[in-house]
Amino acid sequence: MTTDADVIIAGAGPAGSLAAYELALRGVSVLILEKSHFPRYKVCGAGLTHKILNEIPFDVSSVFETQIHSFIFSCGFKEVFSRTTDEPMLYCTNRDKLDDFLLRKAIEAGARVIHGETVMNVTQEAQIVSVATRAGTFRSKLLIGADGASSAVARSAGLREHIMPGLAWEAEVKVDPETLKAFSHTVFLDWGSFPGGYGWVFPKGDHFSIGVGGPASLSKYMMPYYQKLLDYLSSGGVDRGDDLKSEIRNSKFEIRILNTMSLKSWPIPVRVKRSSFHKGRVLVAGDAAGLTDPLTGEGIYYAVRSGILAARSCYDYLQGSAPSLASYSTAVNDELMTELLEANRIKSLFNTVPLKIHRFVRDSNRAWGAFAKILRGERWYADVPGGFGKWKVLWGAACSLSKLISDQKEKRFSKNGFN
Ligand SMILES: Cc1cc2nc3c(=O)[nH]c(=O)nc-3n(C[C@H](O)[C@H](O)[C@H](O)COP(=O)(O)OP(=O)(O)OC[C@H]3O[C@@H](n4cnc5c(N)ncnc54)[C@H](O)[C@@H]3O)c2cc1C
Repeated sequence: MTTDADVIIAGAGPAGSLAAYELALRGVSVLILEKSHFPRYKVCGAGLTHKILNEIPFDVSSVFETQIHSFIFSCGFKEVFSRTTDEPMLYCTNRDKLDDFLLRKAIEAGARVIHGETVMNVTQEAQIVSVATRAGTFRSKLLIGADGASSAVARSAGLREHIMPGLAWEAEVKVDPETLKAFSHTVFLDWGSFPGGYGWVFPKGDHFSIGVGGPASLSKYMMPYYQKLLDYLSSGGVDRGDDLKSEIRNSKFEIRILNTMSLKSWPIPVRVKRSSFHKGRVLVAGDAAGLTDPLTGEGIYYAVRSGILAARSCYDYLQGSAPSLASYSTAVNDELMTELLEANRIKSLFNTVPLKIHRFVRDSNRAWGAFAKILRGERWYADVPGGFGKWKVLWGAACSLSKLISDQKEKRFSKNGFN
């Protein structure tokens, strides 16, 4: 039977475009089916950590809007402090630009794309995968589902198990020029207000992205939390009664909102157990696979990395050097899930004693250094238990206990909200 491509990829986000780039570069025929028309808006803080940049095999600096040198932290809008670094810790971009850039790279490498093509359903036959879209049917030897958080591919192929739903609300916000300038290199984070979630402000060149996120089970409290965040920011930020420790002159993150351009919610799927990321001729990557950091919501790194791993497994299979796509599930479980499961344990610990950890990051250069190293990809969550040496067992026990306490806290919050 004839095929439309060796590999079809559903979705042209970071996971799909990187998978397409890697495959096309190796001479594999690739067809991307993308439901939107690029460049398209995507709800996202679009903070790019060094570990993302280390993973993308070409330079993306042309799409950076801002470089982040300082973080202002509050815990439940209290005990505000800031931390700065000489080297940028993060780069902010807009997803319309980033994703368009990544897709262009895939096309330059030889991938084809059809825009406005929504994948609906997937059927596997002996030698082939049939991909039904709104417009018709496409056939390929292999299929990569990189179609994001509500993946039709994952659903259709039965690859959606062990996913804990998260949710975030975010708005693109115009502010007065002085605020924009004053905070062009600063991210604001409020943690400890919302179990399993946090609020943020990311500067994006000509505007800010302001958002809140957390477990979907607490979704009814997210807009009240978002409103609290806005009230806090527009009322001058710092609570005068707080013990303000400042490393930069102005730790107040005070903003005057001129215009809210969009306010949207979006799911953040979090895989909480090792499982299979392929079935027969179908693989899932990025958000479609639930590969997001439960602690921070970071997903672009996991999308890029899983896209690259998916491409490698597809290539090996097509070359005849691997009998199946099982190497993909193994690689994702060994590498990415190890990291994400540790992040989940740290999240429970944070939920249990948020103020203690907040103060630890404020007062300990070692703690701040570890945070910075994780953002830079110089250290991994999975390294954390090893740092306890012979006390590693205690770390494990503390995490297990924290999980119980953290779950209780979430349940209590779900009943009582902010009261
Ligand atoms: C509010 C918010 C803030 C975030 N902030 C950050 C951050 O600062 N840093 C970070 O690293 N991560 C962040 N994330 C997570 C990040 O956005 C995702 O993890 C990342 O976009 C996943 O990339 P992906 O390629 O897997 O999926 P996506 O980027 O979602 O791309 C999927 C693509 O598939 C297309 N598609 C969808 N369905 C179909 C279909 N049926 N057929 C064909 N095409 C389809 C979509 O149009 C889209 O282009 C944030 C998420 C949210 C919600």
